[in-house]
Amino acid sequence: MDNDSFRRHGHEFVDWLADYFENIERYPVKSGAEPGEVLSRLPSSPPTGGESMDAIFKDFRQVILPGITHWQHPGWFAYFPANNSPSSVLAEMLTAGLGCQCMSWQTSPAATELEERVMDWLRQMIGLPEGFTGVIQDTASTATLCALLSAREFATDFTANERGIHAPLMVYASTEAHSSIEKGVKIAGFGRENLRLIEARDDLSMCPQSLEDAIGQDIGEGKIPACAVATLGTTSSMAMDPVDDISAICEKYGLWLHVDAAFAGTAAVDPQHRWFMKGTGKSDSFVFNPHKWMLTNFDCSAYFVRDPGILLRTLSMQPEYLKTAADEQVKNYRDWGIQLGRRFRALKLWFVIRSYGIRGISEMVNKHIGLARHFAQYVADDDGFELLAPQRLSLVCFRYNPGKLDEEDLLRLNQTLMEKVNASGELFLTHTVLKEKYCLRLSVGQRSTAMKHIKKAWILIKDASNRLMA
Ligand SMILES: *Cc1c(COP(=O)(O)O)cnc(C)c1O
Repeated sequence: MDNDSFRRHGHEFVDWLADYFENIERYPVKSGAEPGEVLSRLPSSPPTGGESMDAIFKDFRQVILPGITHWQHPGWFAYFPANNSPSSVLAEMLTAGLGCQCMSWQTSPAATELEERVMDWLRQMIGLPEGFTGVIQDTASTATLCALLSAREFATDFTANERGIHAPLMVYASTEAHSSIEKGVKIAGFGRENLRLIEARDDLSMCPQSLEDAIGQDIGEGKIPACAVATLGTTSSMAMDPVDDISAICEKYGLWLHVDAAFAGTAAVDPQHRWFMKGTGKSDSFVFNPHKWMLTNFDCSAYFVRDPGILLRTLSMQPEYLKTAADEQVKNYRDWGIQLGRRFRALKLWFVIRSYGIRGISEMVNKHIGLARHFAQYVADDDGFELLAPQRLSLVCFRYNPGKLDEEDLLRLNQTLMEKVNASGELFLTHTVLKEKYCLRLSVGQRSTAMKHIKKAWILIKDASNRLMA
């Protein structure tokens, strides 16, 4: 493609995206594509000659778009959000155009130094104390893997990297912790059997006494407690583990404390929601995802560590061909994570933080929390529905329960209800199980979700429930 065509299509695509943002409610939130439908519309062999951008773009609209689930639709209430923003999209465009691979300082000094600066802004924005140093990872899963690897090396005086693990190293997390903890435990070589899931209390947060009991028991059996993972904002119900109490236990027994605040971390930008951060200053590592609730395109996960030296000793590689004259004076982020090559992700974060400011981000967080509170009130006021967990931040866990039905029937009823409302194309909800009860989750967080979408969601859910019982 020549530069003139690039210019022409570039303008065309930005116009298309602006129209997309404006008219996104005309699309069904959840794609109605059947398994294999998109695949069957794609030629089984690649083109021999180059095709025109007009032809490619036509297929984007006709073949790809129907198979897209619209995460930026204001009726997005599934999982957690991955909201973006116009400023983030524009930064991603520049990143793509620059096409830098930012593995070390010399491969783009500005990428490294901007990352250093915006990560410290972010640290201040969520109230993590000075002394924590940040690095951008692709996802919370990867950040947690880095934490588990660091904990493994810390617990073995850096010998596991050399000789492997020779005694059972134990990891602790609550029964409500995210699946990425178990995945990381398996990848890092701890072994799944050495992950102990600690019982949750009534409010679904980790019980510190049970944690201490488990540690004591493992020590008695000759095992080595290495790491505890506390979750701030569990995926199923937004439960908050008591990091302060957990940090005291970790300190007492010499465990690494990793805090997973993947979704909830963004709420800490507003000091009035920062209460759950208590004790995080005593953690060894902390992760949250600006790519979930902070207007920054996927992927962008913020990983903070108290002692970067441990991370570097765990992951740093110094092959001759990567050495540079500046190594003594600069950060080379290739040594701060799993991968060698790195995207220039700091740019979109910088654009977002500058264009919204702390105030703009706080206002969005508060809007979403207010909308969730409103929806929770609808549920609480309706005899046919019940809340299955208190509404926390922007998440509401609820189900339809018209009475006189057993758990099995309630599961099927709510499953059908969810399928019906999702098929409307107006909203997209997902489910979980809380204390063995099938539960619908309404998770608010898309940038443009407003009161009218919450009202519409409730009407659709109510109507569908009435029709199910009719
Ligand atoms: C979403 C989520 C994760 C995983 O996030 P990725 O960035 O997709 O790896 C981990 N922990 C919690 C609590 C989450 O909600």
